[in-house]
Amino acid sequence: MLVIMNTIATDDQIDRVKEKIHELGYKPHDIPGRNRLAIGVTGNKDAEDRIYLEGLPGVLQVIQVSKPYKLASREVHPENSIIDVNGAKFGEGHVTIIAGPCAVESEEQTIRIAEKVAKLGAQILRGGAYKPRTSPYSFQGLGEEGLKILAKARDETGLPVVTEAVDTESASLVAQYADMIQIGTRNMQNFILLKKVGELGKPVLMKRGMSATLDETLMSAEYLMASGSHSVVICERGVRTFASHARNTLDISVIPALKQVSHLPIIIDPSHSSGRRYSVLPHSLAGIGAGADGLIVDVHDRPEEALCDGPQAILPNEFAELMKISGQICNAMGKTIGNTGNSG
Ligand code: PEP
Ligand code: MN
Repeated sequence: MLVIMNTIATDDQIDRVKEKIHELGYKPHDIPGRNRLAIGVTGNKDAEDRIYLEGLPGVLQVIQVSKPYKLASREVHPENSIIDVNGAKFGEGHVTIIAGPCAVESEEQTIRIAEKVAKLGAQILRGGAYKPRTSPYSFQGLGEEGLKILAKARDETGLPVVTEAVDTESASLVAQYADMIQIGTRNMQNFILLKKVGELGKPVLMKRGMSATLDETLMSAEYLMASGSHSVVICERGVRTFASHARNTLDISVIPALKQVSHLPIIIDPSHSSGRRYSVLPHSLAGIGAGADGLIVDVHDRPEEALCDGPQAILPNEFAELMKISGQICNAMGKTIGNTGNSG
């Protein structure tokens, strides 16, 4: 349910509505909007309960939300959400660029690459400290030491950092260091982890599960939002198909489909979708052309030495080229890109 308040509703009237929602055994959520004040209600099972809210002073309308996801739906929040990660904004006629190594390998490597991507217009630094690897023999990440290195890279470059939380035990630690917490594709339906990360209240970059439908993806976003994080950015990183020419199949079609039903920003990961350096640029351009709100790109200056995903990491000069051509597409679309403020 969604309770729309009169624009002239008083604070007392708003408090009374929230109190009533609690009395009914449900949970109220403030839904910020440009033109109206609304309160989302989750947990309600009985559609008839709307009559208890409709009659309260200051209430304009109570709307039944038809989708299984509520807080993530456009019915509840008609305008596109703008998600602010310490100054880097997603969803504002702007293509926001996240770049950096797949994994934090050492302080020297991370700061070296962070400085390069910052100079080339990235707005957020990526780098995994906890790596979910298919093989138990592969590099698993530096853990807390990696988080400390990311914090140092932020100090050196001014870039906010995004990094993955792989389990509930380390999630709070990740939140102490990161500006944005990443949920990986393998954990998109780890509901216990989603609840824990949602409670931490930080912006979240949630990757779509590799075989998740759009509804499943938005239900996972709903877990984060219902437990406290309203700043959720979705990431399309390719889905599993029969195709073997790419690591995954980038599902461009999900971008307009998501925007139709949800207000949340969506970005593309052209590196984990393609798995191959030569495909990173075309995947990026396709994503931006389809209306994506940003990119998260693996960049490494010595990919042959990378401890994780070297074949899909682009070199700094290729990243510069990507920024330039993407900027031209953004220009044609009336958008801006990256930290340059440039539109082409
Ligand atoms: C990553 O971005 O580091 C990563 C592991 O990606 P995904 O979860 O999409 O495989
Ligand atoms: Mn990777």
